[in-house]
Amino acid sequence: MSFSQLGLSDKVIGAIDAAGYKTPTPIQEQAIPHVLARRDVLGIAQTGTGKTAAFVLPMLTMLEKGRARARMPRTLILEPTRELAAQVAESFEKYGKNHKLNVALIIGGVSFGDQDSKLLRGVDVLIATPGRLLDHSERGRLLLSGCELLIIDEADRMLDMGFIPDIERIGKLVPFTRQTLFFTATMPPEISRIADNFLHNPVRVEVSKPATAATTITQLQVAVGREGHEKRDTLRRVIRAADDFKNAIIFCNRKREVALLHKSLVSHGFNAVALHGDLDQSARTAALEAFRTGNAKLLIASDVAARGLDIPAVSHVFNFDVPHHADDYVHRIGRTGRAGLTGTAITLVAPLDTKSVAAIEKLMGMPIPWMGEPAAADAPASGEPRESRRPRGERTQRGGRGRGRERQPRQETSQAQDQPVQAPNEPMQAHREAAPAAQSHPPIRQEPKPARTPQAQPKREPAVADSDGSHLPAFLLRPIPIKA
Ligand code: AMP
Repeated sequence: MSFSQLGLSDKVIGAIDAAGYKTPTPIQEQAIPHVLARRDVLGIAQTGTGKTAAFVLPMLTMLEKGRARARMPRTLILEPTRELAAQVAESFEKYGKNHKLNVALIIGGVSFGDQDSKLLRGVDVLIATPGRLLDHSERGRLLLSGCELLIIDEADRMLDMGFIPDIERIGKLVPFTRQTLFFTATMPPEISRIADNFLHNPVRVEVSKPATAATTITQLQVAVGREGHEKRDTLRRVIRAADDFKNAIIFCNRKREVALLHKSLVSHGFNAVALHGDLDQSARTAALEAFRTGNAKLLIASDVAARGLDIPAVSHVFNFDVPHHADDYVHRIGRTGRAGLTGTAITLVAPLDTKSVAAIEKLMGMPIPWMGEPAAADAPASGEPRESRRPRGERTQRGGRGRGRERQPRQETSQAQDQPVQAPNEPMQAHREAAPAAQSHPPIRQEPKPARTPQAQPKREPAVADSDGSHLPAFLLRPIPIKA
């Protein structure tokens, strides 16, 4: 099948040629004719499948007829993050180079004034994040009653980010008769419900199930302790020992962990940038640009910030934290091994993570081999119950509403504990050459920790174990005589 058989206009075909695309991807082949026939489409596809072009190309063709009116956009694309919205806007520049369409990007973190004047001029394509779109609508600066086509992209991520009430409100502002395209990578029950509400007699288009997409990726897991500095230490050693390393995305579960890890890696001489929700827009854009151009070799990100971003193939993905949901694992590792290239995904696994890893292995339908010694069983090292050994605030809810949201983390161990194992600013290559080369995956071991049993303590002073595992010398517990 070629692009010319899909019913796209000559202008669009010209832009596709200029982009160097030879054949449509499966989602493009299956979705484009239905979009052009004005059918509602439910697209189940993840990033990297060419899904953006699957809606942008037919939109461009359809928008060749008609004109935009002030404050009344003709089409609306909703995206969960600013970066994704900006990425879709770039697609319009690329594929719409032969068109003269007004495309407006309405996202948070930038001034209202410029966005408002764009809306006033009339917009053919409005690409927006839900919150800012509603702000404009509530100020009376935007009317959605002329919107002929609504696209909800990354719907499952919208759910994770708590945007569904906003999406439902926006759904009531656009005409009932509009055409709707709804894209999601996964279909949890809540997404099915929303899809049913938004779509009328949709065509369902589904491409490559996430769990089968990762055939070109070597997956490994590495045992780590539960303390932050110990994990960071292991991560550094794993990065330095990585075979064929070019660049990597490092995923953390929480945005605060992203910031901490970034600071730590930079202080250890790594060329790293961070991407998380607390950064302002210019910092996020600069970080992505540095990683895309190769100026930065490591991108540390949360799922929410990195989801859906079109980042060119990376050689490695490191899961600093095991994701709480197996689906997220599939999305993360899908960042490497793209377009037939090989990639490596390495997950740091603490004893408490073994259940999450089991769920991932079940979804992937295969065990993830260990690099070095396997993690100890999911049991406390001493006779203490496991939960009581965990620092307060670290407990996380698994499953339930709000999954994937960036939660407020516990207070981290101090940066000072993160002792360097190599001199800062040592080039990464030098570290890798120094790494053991005997096996294809050198064993990574935790440095031995002093045992915390009373017998292992120095004989000088008997010690008392505290509830958090620390020890109090006995002399501190002796009663102090108080003179009358
Ligand atoms: P997406 O899934 O929309 O994020 O697209 C992933 C990448 O695939 C983007 O960098 C696109 O430029 C590229 N792409 C989209 N369609 C095609 C195609 N038909 N042939 C080659 N590359 C494509």
